[in-house]
Amino acid sequence: MKFPARLFEGYRTFVNTRLPLERSRYHTLAETGQRPEVMVICCCDSRVSPEVIFDAHPGEIFVLRNVANLVPPYNPTGLTHGVSAALEFAAEILEVKHIVVMGHSHCGGIRAFVEHRDRPNKGDFIDNWMSLIAPAAASLGAEDVLTRSDFLSALERASIVATLDNLTTFPGIRERVNDHRLQLVGAYFDVATGQLTVYDPSSGGFAPVENLMTRQISVTAK
Ligand SMILES: [Zn+2]
Repeated sequence: MKFPARLFEGYRTFVNTRLPLERSRYHTLAETGQRPEVMVICCCDSRVSPEVIFDAHPGEIFVLRNVANLVPPYNPTGLTHGVSAALEFAAEILEVKHIVVMGHSHCGGIRAFVEHRDRPNKGDFIDNWMSLIAPAAASLGAEDVLTRSDFLSALERASIVATLDNLTTFPGIRERVNDHRLQLVGAYFDVATGQLTVYDPSSGGFAPVENLMTRQISVTAK
């Protein structure tokens, strides 16, 4: 088994071009530790890397990726909860100021939920994980009034809003949102066009990020 050639080529390019530019930043981060102000929760999809989309330097974004950018509701049990551990670390140790849930168009996880939900033989993990978006799907009402592609697109956005709600079920996050130490924001990246839209709680819709730069867009804890 060889190390993937594509990764080796990319690493060589990094060492020759970006590392010299970032060397002092890496050195400082190693000495002082990371202090990112933003956490981004996004999909594993290879097309939606937040460091690329937001032109981020090392140490700037604390990233959590999972299939379809979901957060299960707060549920402290003896089981292992990777998403909750990352949230606790970001909110309570790093004290990030913003958590951005970024969904995207053409999400395979969302499509899997719609296409797999009635199949008798569930897979080991994806179907169970994607069942988290059942409430978001139900919130959209009758599906047959939309084309499949419009329904998937609406569900991708509804799932972001439901995930923001789930974030507020974590006591440590709710407390920080209520006293304005932490903002919860929803965003949606269109893979085909590169357009970023942002959730506007006052309208319940998504608008181009340029239009919302001066507006209060953090969701409130219920
Ligand atoms: Zn996805």
